[in-house]
Amino acid sequence: MKQINASIITIGDELLIGQTIDTNSAFIAQELNKIGVWVRRRVAVGDAWDDIWQALDEESQLADIVIITGGLGPTADDITKPLLCKYFGGNLVVNEDVLKHVKYLFEQVYRRTGIMLERNLKQAEVPDVCTVLHNARGTAPGMLFKKGGRVTISLPGVPHEMKGLMTDQVIPRLLKEFEMPVILHRTAFTSGAGESMIAEHIKEFETALPSHIKLAYLPGYGMVKLRLTAKGDTKSTLEKELNDQFEQLKSLVKQWLVTDTDENLEVVIGRILKEKNKTVATAESCTGGYIAHLITSVAGSSAYYKGSVVSYANETKENILGVPHSTLLSAGAVSEETVTQMVKGAIEKLNTDFAVATSGIMGPDGGTQKKPVGMVWIAAGNKEKVVAKEFHFRFDRERNIRQTAHTALDFVRKFIIANS
Ligand code: AMP
Ligand code: MG
Repeated sequence: MKQINASIITIGDELLIGQTIDTNSAFIAQELNKIGVWVRRRVAVGDAWDDIWQALDEESQLADIVIITGGLGPTADDITKPLLCKYFGGNLVVNEDVLKHVKYLFEQVYRRTGIMLERNLKQAEVPDVCTVLHNARGTAPGMLFKKGGRVTISLPGVPHEMKGLMTDQVIPRLLKEFEMPVILHRTAFTSGAGESMIAEHIKEFETALPSHIKLAYLPGYGMVKLRLTAKGDTKSTLEKELNDQFEQLKSLVKQWLVTDTDENLEVVIGRILKEKNKTVATAESCTGGYIAHLITSVAGSSAYYKGSVVSYANETKENILGVPHSTLLSAGAVSEETVTQMVKGAIEKLNTDFAVATSGIMGPDGGTQKKPVGMVWIAAGNKEKVVAKEFHFRFDRERNIRQTAHTALDFVRKFIIANS
């Protein structure tokens, strides 16, 4: 079956100077991928007529579908609409439906008083050679142009408007317009081994994969995701083939396997705790609440997460978590003894089944020869038992914090599985 190729063009000077991170392309690419469209290129251009025109020319050569975002605002810097009108040989005309919608937004939703500005009314003008895609969330409509078997779609740059249009309008229309191949993914989440080690371990499996099934390594903080992607024509056959390969892969990496679904560690922990009807608390020094943030970013986490003591100062470790003054003096804040007591103190104070604690030196300053930057003690435990381990990370402060938080989550996950 013929592969359907897409190009994404994002427009705006803010993307080129790094003021705005281009999240639109990632979302669009994910949505296209789900329906079997291959995104061949992603291009970012500034708010410049010739650059946008050239990008359109170039991407139209390569792609069956061109999706453009940005440059549809009511201000002079946004030039996408007149440019597309000229490019596809049309005239700008007022679209009555869009006009009604713009008026509705201004009067009922934004509740603006006074007369509407000319520039806002202009949002209702569209090229007479396009199909208008209704933007329920904003004033700039989406536009769909067809030429020579190719579809070009222009969407507003505002991420939530773009997303709404993609899901409500673009995807259903593309599914009608093109016959799509099937693309399926399966992801295994591993921790405890680097990507090179895993690659070495599964090299025979990898070389034996058929050409329509590809393996990707996606390393993250202390973990590696392994994604198998299969492309084909018949969903049922492909699904079976992919599942067989995925089962093989899973058994090869079973010593490191965290989950066989594409989900995060904080989601996995939440599921385990909910299944066991248990609760957890955190006692965080060097991560400063970052573990709490990760856990609580999961909806419904109040069912198993009771809270955190961000015991950044020794005084707090002592007064709230009950770390003995003598321990802090003799062993120090970054020590097995301290994190062990932090776990005990958190379980007692927050009345949970489990707790996890972190204490380390995140840098750039504060390291000594005996306790260098990147050294971290992590402990996890329940009422009966606490285990602790020393780690050494070698990144900058921000990455050290993230790495510590993810390592701590994995550490407590293992403890919970082994001790309940
Ligand atoms: P525009 O449609 O050009 O008026 O863009 C409206 C807003 O959407 C701007 O404030 C941008 O910061 C934001 N935006 C535009 N393009 C993108 C993109 N590719 N990714 C994320 N945000 C964007
Ligand atoms: Mg703009």
